[in-house]
Amino acid sequence: MKNLLIIGAGGVSRVATKKCVMNINSFGSITLASRNINKCKIIANEIQKEFGIKINTAQVDADHTSEVIKLIKDTKASAVLNVALPYQDLSIMDACIATKTHYIDTANYEHPDTAKFEYKEQWARSEEFKDAGILGLLGSGFDPGVTNIFCAYAQQYLFDSIEYIDILDCNAGDHGYAFATNFNPEINLREVSSNGRYWEDGKWIETKPLEISMEWDYPEVGVKDSYLLYHEEMESLVKHIKGLKRIRFFMTFGQSYLTHMKCLENVGMLRIDEVEVDGKKIVPIKLLKELLPDPASLGERTVGKTNIGCVIEGIKDGKPKKVYIYNVCDHQECFKETGAQAVSYTTGVPAMIGTKLIFDELYKGKGVFNLEEFDAKPFMDELMVQGLPWKVKEL
Ligand code: NDP
Repeated sequence: MKNLLIIGAGGVSRVATKKCVMNINSFGSITLASRNINKCKIIANEIQKEFGIKINTAQVDADHTSEVIKLIKDTKASAVLNVALPYQDLSIMDACIATKTHYIDTANYEHPDTAKFEYKEQWARSEEFKDAGILGLLGSGFDPGVTNIFCAYAQQYLFDSIEYIDILDCNAGDHGYAFATNFNPEINLREVSSNGRYWEDGKWIETKPLEISMEWDYPEVGVKDSYLLYHEEMESLVKHIKGLKRIRFFMTFGQSYLTHMKCLENVGMLRIDEVEVDGKKIVPIKLLKELLPDPASLGERTVGKTNIGCVIEGIKDGKPKKVYIYNVCDHQECFKETGAQAVSYTTGVPAMIGTKLIFDELYKGKGVFNLEEFDAKPFMDELMVQGLPWKVKEL
């Protein structure tokens, strides 16, 4: 029995669900569930029209572990792909433990009251996953996800030891709006406006938001200002890449985006605590999310490319070596294939690949794992054929 339950029906889910259908030989029945069943039905109808394959839809509020448990049992799922918001991770994980069902997600846990991403809560469930005899695959998106796989591939196949890693994330897409975020604004804006952090010589070093920047020439995109941010994959990579001396993460932002964000921050619109307005309590960033364009609606109008990769330096056969492993993705091509732009595409494809590798029994284990703990080769091979081809450039 290889039934899959996908929870969440946003941009990432749209891509992951379609890609699962395109790889239907690895899966049994597929059920797409979310808080709003209509969103699931829209995706299911498109799939039925395009591929002639029926997927099931269901309504679930993943805040309630009992609802997820019931749905897993009803659908006889052997794995749950969680592409809902990250702070639902834990209830879905708990439902997987209770029902002995494999678990895959694309992001790490963010407590709703603190702007802090961390794996602590997900890792803490490893013993329970072991006891239940199930596998939890954490962060199977692009970053985290493919960036972890690029680092693992370098460690396992290209280097004897790795000393420095810079993860470089460029989205050069243009959606034509004065201001919008390419994925959930709550997550995106919190990520960018928080203090930066990188890891060097065994400790974390904190920087002010966007304090460190550099120019980088991204293949097929061009030179872009890139800013140092904290990003979740570093938390697991410092544990699993042996001999590492430093790891940093950079993301590109245009000046207009940064000016809008600074202004919103200055007036308090990025606050995550409740404020009272006419006797009603609201969280400013949630109101902002309602006002901004829905990220899922950006696909059709976004043109340009993304380039995400890792510059990795280390030693091979006693000599210094430096490589750049990256993928370039075109927003319009992604939209033509899946109806979603490249940010959802680059996340949804690896979410499907992680799930497929578990269903095909190429990734096996009991407990909770990050991607770099597995052999990178099968994942790298799948990326090549599933729409995210990569290049390795010697620098
Ligand atoms: P969206 O916000 O577009 O979609 C999230 C979906 O989850 C919506 O359908 C939403 O339903 C549903 N949802 C939210 N809460 C619940 C709940 N309690 N019960 C059931 N369903 C719920 O997000 P994306 O598709 O853009 O992103 C999905 C995930 O991927 C996120 O966790 C995000 O952090 C992660 N991500 C990872 C990246 C990576 O590279 N690793 C990059 C980009 C995203 P509703 O419409 O009702 O709110």
